[in-house]
Amino acid sequence: MASQDSCIGSALHPGDGDYEDSVTTVTGVGSPRLVVRPRSTQDVASAIRYAREQHLAITVRSGGHSLAGLSQARDGMLIDMRQLDSVETNDATRHVLIGGGATWGHVASVLEPAGLALTAGDTADVGVAGLTLGGGIGWMVRKYGLAIDSLVAAEAVTYEGTVLRLSEDENPDLFWAVRGGGGNFAILTHLEFEAHPVSNVVFGTIMYALDRLEDARSLVRAWNESQADADRRLTSVLALMPAMQESPAMAMLQLCFVGTENEAKSSIDAFKAMGTVMDSDIGYRPYASILVTDDPFPAPRAAQQNSLLPAFGEREQSAVCDAFETGQLMMAIRALGGAVRDIDAQATAYAGREAAVMVVGTQLLSDTDSAQRQIAHWQGIQRLEMGAYVNWIGLADDTASKRCYPQRTRARLAAIKSETDPENVFSDAVGFAV
Ligand SMILES: Cc1cc2nc3c(=O)[nH]c(=O)nc-3n(C[C@H](O)[C@H](O)[C@H](O)COP(=O)(O)OP(=O)(O)OC[C@H]3O[C@@H](n4cnc5c(N)ncnc54)[C@H](O)[C@@H]3O)c2cc1C
Repeated sequence: MASQDSCIGSALHPGDGDYEDSVTTVTGVGSPRLVVRPRSTQDVASAIRYAREQHLAITVRSGGHSLAGLSQARDGMLIDMRQLDSVETNDATRHVLIGGGATWGHVASVLEPAGLALTAGDTADVGVAGLTLGGGIGWMVRKYGLAIDSLVAAEAVTYEGTVLRLSEDENPDLFWAVRGGGGNFAILTHLEFEAHPVSNVVFGTIMYALDRLEDARSLVRAWNESQADADRRLTSVLALMPAMQESPAMAMLQLCFVGTENEAKSSIDAFKAMGTVMDSDIGYRPYASILVTDDPFPAPRAAQQNSLLPAFGEREQSAVCDAFETGQLMMAIRALGGAVRDIDAQATAYAGREAAVMVVGTQLLSDTDSAQRQIAHWQGIQRLEMGAYVNWIGLADDTASKRCYPQRTRARLAAIKSETDPENVFSDAVGFAV
C-alpha cells in the first residue's frame, strides 16, 4: 500500500504493490528507500525539495532503458516519471508537447492519426526523455537528424525546485546541455518537438546466410559501397550474428526508407544483391508499427559497447569483422550521416555529428559474469573511433565519459553544471560527463 506524505503525495516503499514495477529497469531491480511517481511539474519540484531536506540521493527514471544502469536506484529516492506521459499535438504548428515520462511507442501511436511522426529510437518502450538527453538515433536519423534536432523547447525543474523553460532563447546554455549532454543538470518534465509529416515508411528486414564467419567480410564491403551517396531518406543497419545454440551464424539488414516503395526499390535491389538472401520481409508500413517492444524486461544479461567511426573504409571494416570472427559478439553497423551533419557540431552537446557509422557490439553473459563489464575484442575497433554514443554505453565510468564527450564539450558542460546544479543533486544520470 502506498503511504501518504503531505510534501510529495503518494510514496512507495519496499513491499508496496507498485514498488517492484518502479524499481525494475532493463538492467535489473533497484532498491531505493522511497519511490515517488509525480503527476505534475509541481510534484517533481516538491519531490526534489523533499529529497534535499531528507538528504536522499535522487535517481530519475522514465523508460528504464539505461544500459549502464543509470536509472536503477541503489538507495535514496527514485523519481519514477512514467505518470507524466501526456502527448498533445498542435496540428497547425506540428508542435508536440510530451510529458517527461512518456515512451516513444506511445508518442508514435498518438501522432499516427495526424499523419505525423518523430524520429526516435527503434524500440517503443524506450523513454522520450532518456533517449533525447543522449541525442537519439532512430530509423529516420539520416532524413530528420537526431531526436534532439527536432526538439524546440523543454520544461526543466532544477535542484532547487525552480521550473525553467529551455529553448534557443530561454536558458540557452541549459538547452544546449540537455541536447546530448544528459540528465545530470535538471529533470525534464516536458519536451516540445516539431514533428514531421510522415505516415507510412518502407521498412523491413533481409536475412543473409553466413556459411562461414568470413563471409561477413564481403557483405560488409558491399553494404558500405551501397552507402556511398545513399539517399538520405534511407537508414539501414547491418547486423552480424554469430551462431547461438541451434541457430547458425547469419546476417540481417534492417532498412527504413522515408518515401514510397517505388522510390525505395533501387536501394532494396542493391541490398538483395549483397549476399545469399535467406528471407526478406519489407513493406510499406505505418511508422508507429515499426517500433518494437522489448520482451522480456529486464533484458537477458548482455554487455554492450559502441564506437562512432568517422569513416568506414577497409581498416574499419576489417576491425569489425575481426571482432565478429571471434564468434562471441553480435555486431550492428548503423549508417549515420545525412541530416545529422546538417547541424553545426558545436550547436548541441551531442558530440558525434561527423561519424559515418556507429558500431554496437553485444556479448551475451553467463550467470556468473559481471553485468557491468567491458566486452571482449573491442580494442581494434576502439582505436579507430572518434568517440562513443552515450546512450549505448554499457558501463558509465570515467573512461566512457571521455570517449563520449571531447574535452571542449566536457568543459562547457562542467561550467553549465556548476551554475545549474552546484550541489550535484543530479549526480547519477545519463550525461555522466560532469
Ligand atoms: C532495447 C533498447 C533499445 C534501444 N534503442 C535505441 C535506439 O534505437 N536509439 C537510441 O538512440 N538509443 C537506443 N537505446 C538507448 C536508449 O536511448 C538509452 O538507454 C536511454 O537513456 C533510455 O532512456 P529511458 O528513458 O528509457 O531510460 P531511463 O533508464 O529511464 O533513463 C535514462 C537516463 O536518463 C535519465 N532520465 C530519464 N528521464 C529523465 C527526465 N525526465 N529528466 C531527466 N533525466 C531523465 C535517467 O536518470 C537515466 O540516467 C536503446 C536501449 C535499449 C535497452
